[in-house]
Amino acid sequence: PSHTATVAGVPVDTRHWIGGERVASSTASASVTSTASASATFTDHSPIDGAPLAEIARGGVAEARAAVVAARDAFPAWAATPPAERARLLHAVADGVEARTEDLAAVETADNGALLRSHRHGVMPRVAHNLRYFADRLLALAHDDFETRGHTNHVSWDPAGPAVLITPWNAPLMLASWKIAPALAAGSTVVLKPAEWTPLTASLFADIAHEAGLSAGVFNVVQGYGAEVGEPLVADPDIRRISFTGSVPTARRIAAASAAHLVPCSFELGGKSPLLVFADADLELAADLAVEQFDNAGQVCLAATRILVEESVRDAFLGHFLDRVTKLTQGDPRDEATDVGPNIHPRHVERVDGFVRRALDAGAKAVTGGGRNTALGGNYYLPTLLTDVAQHSEIVREEVFGPVLTLQTFPDGDEDEAVRLANGTRFGLAATLATGDRERADRVSARLVAGTVWVNCFFVRDLSAPFGGSRDSGIGREGGDWSFDFYCDLKNTVTAPKGWARHG
Ligand code: NAD
Repeated sequence: PSHTATVAGVPVDTRHWIGGERVASSTASASVTSTASASATFTDHSPIDGAPLAEIARGGVAEARAAVVAARDAFPAWAATPPAERARLLHAVADGVEARTEDLAAVETADNGALLRSHRHGVMPRVAHNLRYFADRLLALAHDDFETRGHTNHVSWDPAGPAVLITPWNAPLMLASWKIAPALAAGSTVVLKPAEWTPLTASLFADIAHEAGLSAGVFNVVQGYGAEVGEPLVADPDIRRISFTGSVPTARRIAAASAAHLVPCSFELGGKSPLLVFADADLELAADLAVEQFDNAGQVCLAATRILVEESVRDAFLGHFLDRVTKLTQGDPRDEATDVGPNIHPRHVERVDGFVRRALDAGAKAVTGGGRNTALGGNYYLPTLLTDVAQHSEIVREEVFGPVLTLQTFPDGDEDEAVRLANGTRFGLAATLATGDRERADRVSARLVAGTVWVNCFFVRDLSAPFGGSRDSGIGREGGDWSFDFYCDLKNTVTAPKGWARHG
């Protein structure tokens, strides 16, 4: 059988990448997995039109183990590679990403349905930037030695060992690069398991890493379902780190598996972030920020999906918001003019719609949207704003992960109530506030439970800044030192002034 699928004109290898070789799943290995199946592949579909894109190798216990063994065996040499050489290789991978930006962007859009223009101009350049950032971070590592009663403390960053990286479908290569770059820079080796709905760019990345000169086993990709290949990966005794971005229920399963070998986990999970609009805000700006939440058809963990607006400016804000929504173009993500594309999968659209139906049944009103875009069909869901929602309703508490926002108000001048509503979910990923008053911005920011607070802006992120969430939104932080250190075992060497042999 052919192991190449041509997607958006780009050939993509559909097999795993293990120990520097392309590996197909044997039927035998698929049949030993938990959902025993005779098939050793699964079909990947495009969210744009539902068309099948590729038959992807379906990994199981055998492939998970093979990939971990490859990463384990490659670890000593990679860890011993001088930092300057590791950094050079990461820059070479970044060069490869830049050289193949068009291919990566086209394939990612076909696979996950996010806008081609943002993949081209934003996401793929950012993937390369991530690799360069951590290459430079590695070379800049420094910690001044310090003294304790005449003894010298010297802190060093020992590579931790093989890391399993598990990623979701909403921003496949981007989120993988947040993990790959610091892990490889730190001297750890990697097994990446991309989401089964978006397996393709991980495979292209394996080619790029190989062509850039990474040795066999330093970077591995296994494809397949979480239950079949993800579970054995995170339970493997030879891994030293797990970094996961995805949903809360999966994080609980991974945390339970990691307990067996006390493997440290980094979790970036869901959110239900607020957008607070105070009466003193620039309401045009606030409306711009609100409409930005429809980016990626709302499939953004950080999305500020709960608009909390001060009562007296509700109608004015809503007017500006609706003006902008009517100007949004929904359609094929490959068209330059499109602002909002499809959602990822028919099952996901069903889930999104279920949340909206139940909210409407409970008394919510759809000021705009409220269902599928019937003109487009398929996975296209209308940008939706629901009002008349109660703080304790499902639509306000649970992450929808689609183009669905809610609007609530707080009484004029009642900052406490604004903060109470903002903090009133089990998540704590991000918060955005629109206000014209600096003191209020400082006061409110300090009281918000969120890993990131944006004031009069959204989605601005420096790679050196910590990123992550509190409560059910995650454990740990990615970015800068936080993710670099995660892939290391930090060591402090304390040296005494005494005990030295006398020479001469
Ligand atoms: P998911 O948890 O269903 O799947 C994520 C990944 O985990 C997939 O690769 C899947 O195959 C794998 N997986 C599933 N079960 C597993 C298991 N038992 N063991 C090991 N791996 C397993 O999440 P999803 O639906 O793909 O992603 C959407 C979620 O991701 C949303 O909740 C979203 O908020 C979150 N997310 C968070 C961030 C962040 O940085 N905080 C970023 C993007 C997405």
